[in-house]
Amino acid sequence: MATDRINGSFLTAEEERKQSLKRAGELKQRIADYLAARDSIPCGREWADRIDAHKSKLLQLLGGTEDDWRNWRWQMKNRITEVELLARFVGLARQTIRDIERVSRQYRWAISPYYAAVMAAGGVGGPIWRQAVPSAAEITDSHGSFDPMAERLTAPAPGITRRYPDRLIINVTNQCAMYCRHCQRRRNIGEIDRHQPRRVLEAALDYIRANPEIRDVLITGGDALLLSDATLDWLLGELHRIEHVEIKRLGTRTPVTLPQRITPELCAILDKYPPIYINSQFNHPLEVTPEAAAACSQLVKAGAVLGNQAVLLKGVNNDPHVMKKLNHELLRVRVRPYYLFHAKAVRGTSHFITSVDEGLAIMEKLRGYTSGLAVPTYIINAPGGYGKTPVLPPYVLEHSPDKLILRTWENRIIPYPNG
Ligand SMILES: *Cc1c(COP(=O)(O)O)cnc(C)c1O
Repeated sequence: MATDRINGSFLTAEEERKQSLKRAGELKQRIADYLAARDSIPCGREWADRIDAHKSKLLQLLGGTEDDWRNWRWQMKNRITEVELLARFVGLARQTIRDIERVSRQYRWAISPYYAAVMAAGGVGGPIWRQAVPSAAEITDSHGSFDPMAERLTAPAPGITRRYPDRLIINVTNQCAMYCRHCQRRRNIGEIDRHQPRRVLEAALDYIRANPEIRDVLITGGDALLLSDATLDWLLGELHRIEHVEIKRLGTRTPVTLPQRITPELCAILDKYPPIYINSQFNHPLEVTPEAAAACSQLVKAGAVLGNQAVLLKGVNNDPHVMKKLNHELLRVRVRPYYLFHAKAVRGTSHFITSVDEGLAIMEKLRGYTSGLAVPTYIINAPGGYGKTPVLPPYVLEHSPDKLILRTWENRIIPYPNG
């Protein structure tokens, strides 16, 4: 008789198999709700044909060719910034047109044709639309401040934000391929696109050279990959030569909003200065299109390590199933979910802000239910620029010098010795 000691009892092989099958049945139940929801969640891979149909229509409206579409400079030049064009593309109610016009007097907007095609597939008012098109809620919002992170008070040198002991941000541009309606730095998004002048970047580099504890430099903006190839080559090269800079990071939404930017020429530059970590911001599975996948694949081949920093946004991704599908789609294209940010109280964005409970409920439905690789860290940025603070559903219910009470992902309560 095959026996093993489990919880003090002896089981036959047959009994073991029976228990295992029972457990497998339970686990199957745990995923049933997701499987029922999954296929009706829009997804860039599954909806590629629909996106293509909108692309054809937009190319016709803009008088562009397939070659134009693949050219990121053409995409940038042809960003949609006029409500008339948007209305001709998707058809808009008179009131919506008036709202967009009203908001655009105060806040700028621009959408790359590529992202507009993805957006049209998701529909007017859909999850991509909310991220890209101005809403009247932006100007009626009286909550929040323009700089809740007090970035102006954490700038020890021009172009630099330093909030941590060993790493900092260089802010290289205010330009983006699409101006997110939930942008936390909308105060920097003026009427004109402006890259930092070379002397500001030089001053930032001088600061890094003079502070040998800085081992991690994050280039961001705006969108770091909207710099020219020549400027990126120069800046990455300068950082590469600083011995104490161990890793370079780029913050960019171009894989989401302008995947055409990821050219062989750009990849050849990135390949010269390892190690490079690139964090993007995919917020919805519809954004993970074949074009986005191709861009990620090229970046990976150039040696970059890819991560995602999603933002929890009401009406976009504040749903456990949507978030799970997003993270699964990202892992398929070799992007590791890194952070899920709780939306900050930035003026003009409060219509996006969820409760922290909603974020916790999403995290609760990820851990254990899916690959650990698909579980980002949920982060609240401490007001005042005091740093990213992780928040987690409670898995340690009690904690004393000799004992912990743990709660498993399935809500089993388990005492555990503290050492
Ligand atoms: C987010 C951020 C970083 C990077 O933080 P990690 O947790 O290391 O990803 C660095 N500096 C500033 C100012 C930041 O806001």
